[in-house]
Amino acid sequence: MASTTTINPSTGEKIADYNRLSINETKDKIAQSRKAYESWKQKTYEERAQLMHKLADVLDENKEEYAQLATREMGKTIGQSRKEIEKCALVCRYYADNSKGLLSDEIVKTEATKSYVTFQPIGVVLAVMPWNFPFYQVIRFAAPALMAGNTGVLKHASNVQGCAFALEDAFTKAGFPVGAFTNLNIDSKLVKDVIEDKNIVAVTLTGSDPAGRSVASIAGQNLKKTVMELGGSDAYIILDDVDMQEATDLATLGRLQNNGQTCIAAKRFVVLDKIYDEFLALFTKKMKAAKMGEPTAEDSYYGPMARFDLRDELHEQVLKTIAQGGRLVLGGEIPLCKGAYYPATILADLELGMEGFDNELFGPVASVIRAKDDAHAVELANNSQFGLGSGVFTGNNERGEKLALQLEAGSSFVNKLVVSDPRLPFGGIKNSGYGRELAAYGIREFVNTKTIWIK
Ligand code: NAP
Repeated sequence: MASTTTINPSTGEKIADYNRLSINETKDKIAQSRKAYESWKQKTYEERAQLMHKLADVLDENKEEYAQLATREMGKTIGQSRKEIEKCALVCRYYADNSKGLLSDEIVKTEATKSYVTFQPIGVVLAVMPWNFPFYQVIRFAAPALMAGNTGVLKHASNVQGCAFALEDAFTKAGFPVGAFTNLNIDSKLVKDVIEDKNIVAVTLTGSDPAGRSVASIAGQNLKKTVMELGGSDAYIILDDVDMQEATDLATLGRLQNNGQTCIAAKRFVVLDKIYDEFLALFTKKMKAAKMGEPTAEDSYYGPMARFDLRDELHEQVLKTIAQGGRLVLGGEIPLCKGAYYPATILADLELGMEGFDNELFGPVASVIRAKDDAHAVELANNSQFGLGSGVFTGNNERGEKLALQLEAGSSFVNKLVVSDPRLPFGGIKNSGYGRELAAYGIREFVNTKTIWIK
């Protein structure tokens, strides 16, 4: 029987094997989810919210166990894993408390006696999810989808299959009915069959551009709605009136948190010429001082990358950028240790056409780019196939806001790293995908926005 093997990226050692589902077993589980939907959709918001609150409690109660599991499977530092579980509980509580209001009927005045818009559940939604926030990415989908009255099936990334089963178990412990949330441990080749299954009504995918294109085209062939949360190469513009200590602290955190593997990480730093050398010197000092170490050690600033192949691909991108004329300022060498570690690396003087400028570097590697003035900085920032997050660091909020409005991205933050917050929509444009998660926009992606007209 085929299985999924999880590997600890800090040591290279095997953690566990999980038996994969056959196609027939997969279809049975989807049918079970559809059956659960028939009664789940009849529940009141209050009944659903009660279970969603219970799920938040289960996450809180098992925080240490879940955090250790995430760290073991994908290498993020233990402190960040704990914060991830806390954020999951926060999102569950947000949707437990707000879904009824976010989906309440909207009366529209027309010639009718009564006309309004109502939001109804649609059925079983497939979620294809990545490993980088193995609990949070799933909850960000599941909490609104289930509160809206849908049920969900999960195809999680293979390297975090323990987290996938832990999530399924958390829903069970919280008292959700069998089939409300189901983990499908399958090869990604089976995703096509899952999308084509008549019981699947829509798909959400968070992951890479190739996975997104493949899943979106299969769903398109089957006329099934999709939301795509894909990669990014977020630019942060550093203006010449900036508080340099604060900007370099944020830049270091933004580039190294989650071991550099965040879709909305600060990846390209577009720095005004006047302060370019000063920024680069201080940023280099701080990136160098950040401690790379065992992810379970409380004092590690960052740990290994999630998989050896991803580390090796990143290194190839660094070498390519250097060969294209990029200047290596820090790091850039695979360390002699057994884990999938990669050091904090800085590539400077990058230009359009270089790998580190054009493509996403999904690891602890920063691209630094020189800009002549504000307008040039915006032009460089926007010169990207991606449009997920973006930022401006400046001593003048007004100047920052003016630039933020010109940045081509799903979000632009001034003097703060981009974060996902349940109260605000999250998503991208261009090759970063389409559709939104979180807030009212997220929960309304997977509902039937239905018009009622009474003469
Ligand atoms: P990935 O390789 O695309 O994997 C994501 C998920 O898709 C996994 O479950 C994977 O399964 C599955 N998958 C891969 N190829 C597939 C295919 N052809 N058909 C169907 N499913 C497929 O991405 P990743 O390496 O895990 O994550 C990194 C990428 O995700 C980065 O580009 C990052 O920026 C992006 N990301 C975006 C967001 C956002 O919110 N926009 C958030 C996090 C990450 P297997 O593991 O079994 O291959």
